[in-house]
Amino acid sequence: MSISDKNDALLIKAESGRDLSREDIIALLKLPGNYSAALYFAADRVRKQEVGNEIFLRGIIEFSNYCESNCLYCGLRKGNSGLSRYRMSEDEIIDTAHQIQETGIPTVVLQSGEDSFYSQETVCRLIKRIRKETDLIITLSLGERDLNDFKVFYQAGAHRYLLKHETASTELYKYLRPGCNQQSRIQCLRRLKELGFETGTGNMVGLPGQTPEILANDLLAMKILNADMIGIGPFIAHPDTPLAGIDNDDIEMTLRVLAVARLLTRNTNIPATTALATLHPQGRILALQAGANVVMPDFTPNMYKSRYDIYPGRTDTGTAKDIIEKLKMDVHSIGREINFSAGSRFGNQHQDTVH
Ligand code: SAM
Ligand code: SF4
Repeated sequence: MSISDKNDALLIKAESGRDLSREDIIALLKLPGNYSAALYFAADRVRKQEVGNEIFLRGIIEFSNYCESNCLYCGLRKGNSGLSRYRMSEDEIIDTAHQIQETGIPTVVLQSGEDSFYSQETVCRLIKRIRKETDLIITLSLGERDLNDFKVFYQAGAHRYLLKHETASTELYKYLRPGCNQQSRIQCLRRLKELGFETGTGNMVGLPGQTPEILANDLLAMKILNADMIGIGPFIAHPDTPLAGIDNDDIEMTLRVLAVARLLTRNTNIPATTALATLHPQGRILALQAGANVVMPDFTPNMYKSRYDIYPGRTDTGTAKDIIEKLKMDVHSIGREINFSAGSRFGNQHQDTVH
C-alpha cells in the first residue's frame, strides 16, 4: 500500500468510529499538511452526525483572578505580582447571571483562579441563589478543590464541572504546575464523574517540550476519563510568566487535536475556545468547522474582563447583546444555527433527571 493509500485508509477508519490505537492517533496528528482539510472535513461530518448542526452556548463569568497556584503558563499565577486582582461580589455575580439568562443562554460557567476566599459555604450560597433566581444550568470551573466540596456543590445544584487535565505528560505537568500533583487532578476528575457531574477536561497545545506522542496521550486520557466536554486550546505565552517569549503562532496543531478528539470521542461537547479566537481572527470559525459545537461567550463585566489576564490578546468586549449578535453573524456565515437549549450529552432534561 502506498503512503497516500495508508493515509486515506486511516482517515476512513477514524471517521467510521472504529477504535483508534495510540499509533493511529499519532499518525493522524503527523499527517502531511495537505491532509489537514480532509481531517477537518471528517471531524466536521462526525460532529454533524453525532451532535447535530447546532451550536450550544455557555455564558462564562470569570469572577475572581486571585490564584493560590503558580502554573508557569498562566498570567493569573500567584507569582505575577504586577496583576491587579479583583473578586466579584456575590451580588455582582448574580446580576451577571441574570444578564446571561436574559440573552436566552441556558448555562452559566463560573470560573476563577484557585481562590479559597470563595469557601465551600460561599460557593454553595451562590449556586443556590442562581438556581432560585434563574433557570440557568450551572457549570463550575474553580480548579482543584477538596473532594468533599464537589459532593456538596453537586447537592447544592451545580451539575457540571470543567477541570482540564492540561497535559498527560507527568514530566511536563510537574514542571508546569509546581507544587501540584498530576494524580490529584486525575483523582478530582474521577470523583466528579462518580458524583454524576457532566465533566469537562482538556489540554493546551503548543506547550514547550510537547510532542505528538504526548498529545496522543492527552487524547487517550480524554477518552479514558469518558469526558462529557473537552476544551482544547493553544498555549499563548504571557509576558509576565516564566514562559514569556515561547511563541506559539500556529493554530494548525490545535485544530488537528480538536478534530481527532471529535473522531475519537464522537458525541462530546467541544468548544471553539477563546484561546483559538485570540490566536487567529478566524480561530473560532475554523474550530467550529473542525469538530467543535460549543461557544462560551464571556459575560464578565468589562471593568474586570481585561484583568482576567490568563494570556494576552483577549478581545471579547461589548454588551451581552453585542456578543450574541456577533456570534449569530459568525455562526450564520458557516450555515449553522445557535441552539438556546442546554446541549447536554445526556439530553436537555439532565438537570432535572439526575437526582
Ligand atoms: N484555575 C482553574 C484551573 O486552572 O482549572 C480555572 C481557571 S484557568 C485560568 C482556565 C484554563 O486556562 C486552564 O485550564 C488552562 O488550560 C488555561 N490557560 C492558562 N494559561 C494559559 C495560556 N497561557 N494559554 C492558554 N490557555 C491557558
Ligand atoms: Fe491558577 Fe488556573 Fe491559572 Fe493555574 S491555570 S495559575 S490554577 S488560574
